[in-house]
Amino acid sequence: MSQLKIPNSLTGTVSSLYIHVPFCQSKCHYCDFYSISTADSRLLRLWHERVQVELQRLQREAESNGVTILPLKTIYYGGGTPSLLPFEFLSEELELCRQLFGLAEDAEITLEANPEQIKSEKIAADWLSIGFNRLSIGLQSASDHLLRVMGRRHSREDAFQAVTFAHQAGFRNISLDLISGLPDAHMSDIEDTLAFIAALPLTHLSCYALDVPSHTRFAEMLAADSGRFPDDRLEREMFHRIREVLIDRGFKHYEISNFALESFQSRHNTVYWRAEPYLAAGPAASSYLAGIRRSNPDSLLEWSKTVLEQGPFSAENITEIITEDEARRESILLGLRLLSGVNAGDFQQRHAIDYRHLFAAQIEKLSQAGLLDFDGETLRLTREGEDFCNIVFREFV
Ligand code: SF4
Repeated sequence: MSQLKIPNSLTGTVSSLYIHVPFCQSKCHYCDFYSISTADSRLLRLWHERVQVELQRLQREAESNGVTILPLKTIYYGGGTPSLLPFEFLSEELELCRQLFGLAEDAEITLEANPEQIKSEKIAADWLSIGFNRLSIGLQSASDHLLRVMGRRHSREDAFQAVTFAHQAGFRNISLDLISGLPDAHMSDIEDTLAFIAALPLTHLSCYALDVPSHTRFAEMLAADSGRFPDDRLEREMFHRIREVLIDRGFKHYEISNFALESFQSRHNTVYWRAEPYLAAGPAASSYLAGIRRSNPDSLLEWSKTVLEQGPFSAENITEIITEDEARRESILLGLRLLSGVNAGDFQQRHAIDYRHLFAAQIEKLSQAGLLDFDGETLRLTREGEDFCNIVFREFV
């Protein structure tokens, strides 16, 4: 792997950082993200110490790997359950990021949090005081019976309190996650969740269709009794209803699964959808830098060893070197997730080629099928294309 060459056309700068916190109090029944079900303080401290080493190595070794780190415009603490971390850890890590990389004045700094951990206004005020300015809270559903089916540790009331505390503490950018197509869910649950969130001071909502990865409790449930799971048609009806109501309430549907009030689109996630570079730290975290995708080991102890011995830029971490041809396909694939679409001029500037020629056959075929729309400048998914985006994406792989 050490012989691999970085493609020159993809070298560059980076100003986004993802930090993966691999701890949860228990495993939700639909989740296959890398996390350990523990809040053991020794493991949390091990992670905290190592992540600081990793951040230092990222800063020290970036330049020799073709990457210039600019003052960060976005930092995203995801997981796992970042809100499980002690306040001092978060504080020290953000301070270290400030010292190592610098922070843009208007940097978006997001903490993923579970409702049951925002137990007071003070907890949220503490996060705000060290620089977090965006909370992404995992609601998933406001129906208590569905929260139990998912193995979530919070109730509808906990979620209401959490958002209220966060807002009272001063958070002005609060996002909630929802899932459509949950087992035992009916349209009435969607209506109930929509009524519940109407009263909350939200700026952003992510709504994902349920995916059932193997090795989860839901996979066992699906195998045992698939009748509990809404079929695709009903799942789409649920999503359409959510979309209709959120748009009525002034949210813009800006990405296949995401809605935001004006100027509250997730800046960090938009980096992913625009196939722009980002740094990453923590077990199982993946970075995309200078045309190279690296993934840290999805094991706390292995990652910890790798951080000390090889460092974040090690050849062993490389999972993919993106050729220019792949980069062009990714720009279309990821860019189509954004409902503003892929502009031909932007694409030309980035890849020195006209996608109308490069992907003429795919565009023609998918337009005829009613899944893509091209207005002469921008290629977008149609409404039908949003529902069948996997068919669209397959054509560009
Ligand atoms: S809290 Fe989040 S990361 Fe942890 S198991 Fe549940 S869904 Fe997965």
